[in-house]
Amino acid sequence: MTKNYIFHNAKELLEHCHNHKMSIWEVMLNYELQLSKKSKKEVLKMLGDRLKVIFDSIDAAVKNPEMSPSGMVGKSTPLLAKAVRDFKKWDKKLLLNEAATRAMLGAVATGENNARMGVILAFPTAGAAGVLPGVIFGAKHKLKLKEEQMLEMMLTASAIGVIIANTATLSGAAGGCQAEVGSATAMAAAALTEVRGYSPETSLHASSLALKNMIGLACDPIGGLVEVPCIKRNGIGAVFSMAASDMACMGVESFVPFDEVVRAMREVGDMMNPKIRETALGGLAVTPTGQRVAEKMGLLNIGTNPCSK
Ligand code: SF4
Repeated sequence: MTKNYIFHNAKELLEHCHNHKMSIWEVMLNYELQLSKKSKKEVLKMLGDRLKVIFDSIDAAVKNPEMSPSGMVGKSTPLLAKAVRDFKKWDKKLLLNEAATRAMLGAVATGENNARMGVILAFPTAGAAGVLPGVIFGAKHKLKLKEEQMLEMMLTASAIGVIIANTATLSGAAGGCQAEVGSATAMAAAALTEVRGYSPETSLHASSLALKNMIGLACDPIGGLVEVPCIKRNGIGAVFSMAASDMACMGVESFVPFDEVVRAMREVGDMMNPKIRETALGGLAVTPTGQRVAEKMGLLNIGTNPCSK
């Protein structure tokens, strides 16, 4: 009989992990093989190509920093890159370690590359594209990860994304930024935890801790552009993922199980006023600064959904 690897929620995912004696990434790989009918070699090649996009995108922003056409973003990548390059000096001043600083750089560089129309990997969306790359970029250095381990991280993160997409949403227009950057931090937290050798349960605790921290987060992009607050929010989201993973690795558990956290996120999204769901009609988008920039760009009160494009 053909084995089944399809799951819709964390409970089913954990059942597969136990029944097949597999980690989350292995179940996700088999899920993909089952659904796509591709060979393992093809799926891993696809993932490898996407990993290259992640690193190329960070590299592009670091090597060629430029302001975005709106003039709102582009300055942060060189500052973070400088700190990473000269971390021994910065280590005395900073509270976070080198891995976290690299994670912020990876996340912000991805967002700034996107704002300059560079190629990025929308993982899970363009607006939240920095968190997982940032975490991979930071963890690679600290944990001396091989390419295959980074591919495993992408698979673990995908499994969490599948659950959130099935139960709630990954769209800021539907559920606010909790559904975008929030989901990305949950995906990255599980990926980071599993690649460090922790169990599927511990990885899901890390995801729950990360997502709970993001519940209620508004989507309020200035001028409807995926720039402010999106890019730095990704940078700090990457560090949240690391904190959630560290907590879970210490044995701290989420009191509320992951499936319930995701359902709560969906309910909060349903309650959100449309003004804070990608319409650029509320929150930071309507601050005097936000309105000034939007007016200058001819984007005042546009009511668009940038991440849904
Ligand atoms: S557009 Fe909205 S949902 Fe997307 S990253 Fe920006 S604030 Fe978050």
